[in-house]
Amino acid sequence: MHEPIPTVTLPSGIDIPALGLGTWQMGEAKARARDEIESLRLGIDLGMTLIDTAEMYGEGGAELIVGKALEDRRDEVFLVSKVYPWNASREGTTVACEASLQRLGTDRLDLYLLHWRGEHPLADTVAAFETLRAAGKICAWGVSNFDRADMEELLTVPGGENCAVNQVLYNLSRRGIEYDLLPWCQTHNIPVMAYSPIEQGRLIQHPELIRIAKVYQATPAQVALAFLLERDGVSAIPKSSNLRRVRENRDAVDLDISDEDWAVLDTAFPPPERNTPLEML
Ligand code: NDP
Repeated sequence: MHEPIPTVTLPSGIDIPALGLGTWQMGEAKARARDEIESLRLGIDLGMTLIDTAEMYGEGGAELIVGKALEDRRDEVFLVSKVYPWNASREGTTVACEASLQRLGTDRLDLYLLHWRGEHPLADTVAAFETLRAAGKICAWGVSNFDRADMEELLTVPGGENCAVNQVLYNLSRRGIEYDLLPWCQTHNIPVMAYSPIEQGRLIQHPELIRIAKVYQATPAQVALAFLLERDGVSAIPKSSNLRRVRENRDAVDLDISDEDWAVLDTAFPPPERNTPLEML
């Protein structure tokens, strides 16, 4: 028996799983397509029904893979995609969204994010998001790679208060947001979606993480995910195209790490003592 996947509540009141599925580097090679589709479908079977993609990934290839995985099960998932900053004008956002919907084979996104800040004024992007929302093409919108100052600016833009999520780099080895951005988001009821939750696989080689994982007969990746699952208002979207690792990531929910061992991990991966600019991958 597995523990159910915890949820994170969006400002709209909708609950999303705190553990989902990333898709960066999917859709880049035909030979891997079957594994990618199967791993996404397995993830959904296991309850990781939050899928994160972007027009950037595989230049649309990842969205095509997600579309195939969701062919007969679109309604089971909370589907997130992202617009390139250079497409995020009033007009361009709508065009990009239509193209994403086409590739994904759906009539709506559950969440549409600005991938990172670019040249287009935030007011234009937000206006486009709001128009898409009114048209039912997206159910909610949010941002990605926004630091606290960006978030504060966003809230001064008409409609900016409707931001549903900030997706940022956050994992045991990248704890900078705990000083300022994460508490700010928690106070403003804007959930954080943690990307690269296992540092693109690099965290699994960390000796202290390996040691603690062994204590729990778990894996370092599971401990890294458990760290994020402990946080209020935080969801994590690990990517795996491997069925065994998808199961492994799902099972991170069952880990119950003691306060003593969290303290050991705090020593190995110290929380920030001062404000640091948001890191990006
Ligand atoms: P992750 O931290 O999720 O790591 C993914 C890598 O780790 C892959 O190489 C994967 O390989 C491997 N891996 C997955 N599970 C395990 C495991 N249990 N043990 C060992 N290795 C494992 O990195 P990502 O950068 O992919 O981040 C996750 C998602 O976040 C992305 O896919 C994307 O959707 C989103 N993202 C958003 C960004 C943004 O700017 N908004 C930036 C970066 C990511 P394998 O597939 O072979 O298992």
